[in-house]
Amino acid sequence: MSMPKAQLFGLGVDLVDMQEAAGIAMGLVQGSGGYVVTLNPEMCMRALEDTEFADTIKGAALVVPDGIGTVWALRRLGHKDVPKVPGIELAETVASRCAKDGTAVYLLGAKPGVAERAAAYLVLKHKGLKIIGVKDGYYGKEDEGKVARDVADSGAGVVFVAMGAGRQESFMQLACSLKAGIAMIGIGGSFDVFAGDIKRAPDMVRKLGLEWLYRGLTQPSRLRRLAKLPAFALTVLTRPSLARNGRTG
Ligand code: UDP
Repeated sequence: MSMPKAQLFGLGVDLVDMQEAAGIAMGLVQGSGGYVVTLNPEMCMRALEDTEFADTIKGAALVVPDGIGTVWALRRLGHKDVPKVPGIELAETVASRCAKDGTAVYLLGAKPGVAERAAAYLVLKHKGLKIIGVKDGYYGKEDEGKVARDVADSGAGVVFVAMGAGRQESFMQLACSLKAGIAMIGIGGSFDVFAGDIKRAPDMVRKLGLEWLYRGLTQPSRLRRLAKLPAFALTVLTRPSLARNGRTG
């Protein structure tokens, strides 16, 4: 299927709305499989310097703008109608479809015990949802191959991978190379929210497009990450060619 695409920091972003994104993800389960990247400004900035990371994103079957930062940047660069597709909401939408059509789901990531509680939340919310496996995201790098194999062989059609940007994308690339017909979606810290350990910003804050600020201020560990945002915004505003192509000229 050919989807409208935009270039952001040299990465192709698919201009699809939430329902289209969920439909494409579910289509991967019937087809060749693949992974979905939910792109945020930090990832864009990292892609400028880390070509391996950029290549992993380019290998995704679907790349969606995760939040207001990427949506704002795409609009500034001339793409007027860019829907926001937050990873956490995409996971809920896909979970609801899986519950309806019987696709089994695997949850990988977050601290020990969190994925189990996230699974309990999802099963309660989406009646009939089948969770075929859960695993925390704090295993050693040397076990990556085994975990990828276990997940690929688990019988899951959809895998939610919540290990933070970078780690989750390289895991998805590896695991998807092992088996066709599995859709993997990288969703950052979403299990912590599903489990009730972290609260999403109130509706009003989200409507104002300030969820990123709320998260930065309420989770001190994220404060440092806010520092990257001005450079992202400045690049978009003053160096549009770099912000589009990931290089100047
Ligand atoms: N995490 C993990 N393994 C690691 C490092 C982090 O499973 O080695 C988890 C962490 O517990 C948290 C999520 O990955 O649940 C990262 O959350 P964050 O909000 O930082 O994600 P992002 O902002 O990248 O979407």
